[in-house]
Amino acid sequence: MTKLHILSNRLPFSVKKNDEKIELIPSVGGLATGMKSVYGQFEGSWIGWPGVELDTCTTEQLLEMNAMLKEEKCIPVHLTHNETLHYYEGFCNKTIWPLFHYFTQYAEYDAADWESYVNVNRKFADAALSIIGDDDYIWIHDYHLLLVPQMIKETKPSVTIGFFLHIPFPSFEVFRLLPWRMEILNGLLGADLIGFHTFDYERHFFSCVRRLIGYDITLNHINAPDRLILVDAFPMGIDYMKFHESSRHLDKQSENEKSDFTKQLEDFILQSPDRKLILSIDRMDYTKGIPHRLKAFANFLQNYPEYRQKVTLIMLAVPSRDEVEHYQLLKKEVDELVGKINGMFGDINYTPIWYFYRSMPYQNLVELYHACDVALITPVRDGMNLVAKEYVAARTGIDGCIILSEMAGAAKELGEAILVNPNNDNEIAEAIRQAISMPADEQQERMERLQDRIKRYDVFKWAAEFVNSMHKVQHLQSEYN
Ligand code: UDP
Repeated sequence: MTKLHILSNRLPFSVKKNDEKIELIPSVGGLATGMKSVYGQFEGSWIGWPGVELDTCTTEQLLEMNAMLKEEKCIPVHLTHNETLHYYEGFCNKTIWPLFHYFTQYAEYDAADWESYVNVNRKFADAALSIIGDDDYIWIHDYHLLLVPQMIKETKPSVTIGFFLHIPFPSFEVFRLLPWRMEILNGLLGADLIGFHTFDYERHFFSCVRRLIGYDITLNHINAPDRLILVDAFPMGIDYMKFHESSRHLDKQSENEKSDFTKQLEDFILQSPDRKLILSIDRMDYTKGIPHRLKAFANFLQNYPEYRQKVTLIMLAVPSRDEVEHYQLLKKEVDELVGKINGMFGDINYTPIWYFYRSMPYQNLVELYHACDVALITPVRDGMNLVAKEYVAARTGIDGCIILSEMAGAAKELGEAILVNPNNDNEIAEAIRQAISMPADEQQERMERLQDRIKRYDVFKWAAEFVNSMHKVQHLQSEYN
């Protein structure tokens, strides 16, 4: 039987070590959810890093971990501290991440990091090669593993390889800055199907292939010398019904079923019923445009004093990569800006920004989506942005408004949001005013359309379409040869 294997940097489980004991904690992220649906249909394995460094484990722990993961059809790729330092924190997060998000000034080009990236990609490829059959399918995920498609194809050309990039693919002028641009492109071109979130990323990729490699491209096919490669846009969705149903549950629950968090939010709203809540949720990452967003909120309070006391920004910033210097500097800048704005516009009864620097459990996220009148999502660059879609799914009252950066992949699907340039503080300030004063019927009209679209193309559909295209490319290739 043909199997479908999945390869991603992280396994869908995190391994926790409690003293001598090993615990597997299932991941609830979008990728794990989407993959579960296709994964169940095929026999196959998930190959990835379990999240603990090899040097910190005893032999007994390692054996126990491997056995527990095997039960879950997971194959671990173990990484040493040195590898996580150079491959993950180095090449992935200090080279590819900033460069592909157009932060060219942050991108570091370090030969030791590159070498580690090649070696770790080789480890992943070898782990896959040790288990895949000649006619199997393999779906490789994201920027950590850009070289793996070629490494597998060279050894087992009959395997059908799909690759999906979860971050933007930058324009040629940016991509060409990478010293290892040819290796990266050739690595990707080992795949038979290459997927991006949007047509723009696909276009940028084609432009790089044409100009750097010189392959001919017809419609969305790359005519490589040995085979045809299909490239397409698959905008990743969310588990719409999960968010929607959780939010519906909040509509129906009795007073004593309510969580403390919901009660606190409701009490706060009741203190002043015409108060509007604006929500901002992201990882603390320089691509998310948090300082600009804060400045825009300050401009809004400055330009429209009549809204002071009446509008509160709830800002959740989830700690991320805080060992990297640019992230530490960003955290400092954000802390200072929040303090400054609260100091300038707040008083004893009014705190303009409620700032949380931590992650929140799923239930609290839904409560926030449910309670807030406006979602303010203004990344300077973002592959997709799932928070925007989750907010839409949780609006069971078919109201609420999204202010969304045109630089987020999600903007291509969420045309009914108020789209803004994330670098334009005054435009965002104006969008905030427009959102909080938008008539109810207009909110409903926009939200209905958004919900229809996000519900239809959910994460399960996304995964199924990608797998269908893997079947399709096999067929196209047999005609091509
Ligand atoms: N999220 C979370 N806990 C939090 C805040 C956010 O699990 O405290 C989730 C959120 O529900 C969403 C994801 O993190 O699914 C963020 O995805 P997005 O595409 O918006 O941004 P990314 O972090 O992948 O760049």
